Amino acid sequence: FRRNPGETEFHQAVVEVFDSLAPVLRKHPEFAEAAILQRICEPERQIIFRVPWVDDRGQVQINRGFRVEFNSALGPYKGGLRFHPSVYLGIIKFLGFEQIFKNALTGMPIGGGKGGSDFDPRGRSDAEVMRFCQSFMTELYRHIGEYTDVPAGDIGVGGREIGYLFGQYKRITNRYESGVLTGKGVSWGGSLVRPEATGYGVVMFVEEMLKAKGMSLDGQRVIVSGSGNVAINAIDKAQMLGATVVACSDSSGYVVDEKGIDVPLLRQIKEVERGRIAEYAERRGPSVNFVPDGSIWDAGAGVALPCATQNELDESDAAALIKSGVRAVAEGANMPCTPAAIAAFQSAGVLFGPGKAANAGGVATSALEMQQNASRDAWSFEHTERRLSEIMVNIHERCARTAEDYGAPGDYVVGANISGFVKVADAMLAQGVI
Ligand code: NDP
Repeated sequence: FRRNPGETEFHQAVVEVFDSLAPVLRKHPEFAEAAILQRICEPERQIIFRVPWVDDRGQVQINRGFRVEFNSALGPYKGGLRFHPSVYLGIIKFLGFEQIFKNALTGMPIGGGKGGSDFDPRGRSDAEVMRFCQSFMTELYRHIGEYTDVPAGDIGVGGREIGYLFGQYKRITNRYESGVLTGKGVSWGGSLVRPEATGYGVVMFVEEMLKAKGMSLDGQRVIVSGSGNVAINAIDKAQMLGATVVACSDSSGYVVDEKGIDVPLLRQIKEVERGRIAEYAERRGPSVNFVPDGSIWDAGAGVALPCATQNELDESDAAALIKSGVRAVAEGANMPCTPAAIAAFQSAGVLFGPGKAANAGGVATSALEMQQNASRDAWSFEHTERRLSEIMVNIHERCARTAEDYGAPGDYVVGANISGFVKVADAMLAQGVI
C-alpha cells in the first residue's frame, strides 16, 4: 500500500487474490522463498506518456496514455486498452494484475498487461477519435509487437479505434504485423467471434455453473448491466439459450423490458448510432421503462451478469438480488462486484463466477486471432465458436477442480485465483529471479 499510494482499485485486486493464497504457500514454500508474491505485484514495466492532439475546433488537447506490462512469464504481454475519463494508473494496474491470472486460466501462452488513456471518446467525432488514436500510437508503437506486447480493446476501444491504431502502427513501422493488435476487422486480420467472445463466454461459463447444479439458463429471468460490447453479446447469447433478459443499462440509467431485450434494436442504437439507453425505451414502446436513477439490480432476477464497470454492484445490490431469488452471478466486467457483495452472494449459496474466469473468453479468442495471424489462416465462425466453448468449459472445470483440491468446493473465486497463480508462479520460478 505504501509503495502504491492512492491506487485503490489496484489494492482491491491484489488483496482479493492474496486472500486466496494461504493454502498455496503452505503447499509450495518455494514460492515464498523466491519472493513470488512481491515480484508478481510489481509490474515488469510501466509506461506513461503525453498524448497531444487537435480537436475539430483547432484546439490542442492533452491526454495521458498508459501501458503497464505486468508479467511475461507465460508469453507476450496481452490485455486491452481502455479509453475512459476515469482512467489513471490505479485502474490500469488493477486491470493488468487481473489479466495475468485470467490469461493463465485460458491455457494459452499469453502474459498480462493493460493500457489506455483518460481520453473520453463520447461526443467526439470520428475524425477526433482518429487523431487521438494516431497520437496515442505514435508513442505506444515503440513498446509493442507480436512477440512483446499485444494490445486489444476494452471500455471505449472497439473495432473503430483498433482500426485507427493499427493503421498508424503500420505507417510508422512500415510492417504489416497482423499479430501486434487483436480485435481487428475480419477482412484485415481479425477473427470471427472475437467481437462476440467475451459476452458469449460469460454465458457459456454461467451455463456450466448451472449445469453442475442440475439447472440451466433456459427459462431464467436475467439482468445484464451495461450495453456495450460485453453486455450486448451476453444478452444475445443468454436469449439464444432460452433466457429472458429483462434489463440493461448505460451510465445514464437502465431500461426494464419484460418481453426480453430486442437485441437488433439495441445494437442499432448502441453500435451503429452510438446513442443512449433512453432511446431504446422511446423506440421500443410504452411497455418499456427507462429509469434514470436507482439500481438496475432492483429489477430482480434468477441470473445476474454485471457487464459494465468496476465496483458497480455493491452489498445492497447483492441483498436485493438475493431477496429476488438470484441463483447465479457471473462477472462479465472486470471486478464489478465489491468484496462485500461477493461475500454476501457466497454466504447465501449463490453461484458466483469471478471475472478472471467468467470473462476470459475475450482474451482467449484474441489468442485464437493471434494463432490465425501466425499461420495466415482464417477460421469459420462455427470452428472458432467451438474452440471458445471448449476453452470456457475447461476454465470452469479447472476452477471447480482446484477449489476442491484446496478444500473450498464450489468456490470459483478460490479456484480461479489459485489455478491462475500456480501456473504463473511455476513459470516465474523456472525462469529465475528476473
Ligand atoms: P464498452 O465501452 O463497449 O461498454 C461499456 C458499458 O459499460 C457501456 O454501456 C457504458 O455506458 C458502461 N459503463 C462504462 N463505465 C461506466 C461507469 N463508470 N458507470 C456506469 N456505466 C459505465 O466496454 P466493454 O463492453 O468492452 O467492457 C465492459 C467491461 O467488460 C469492462 O469492465 C471491461 O474491462 C470488461 N471486459 C471487456 C472485454 C472485451 O473483450 N471487451 C474482455 C474482458 C472484460 P456509457 O456508454 O454510458 O459509458
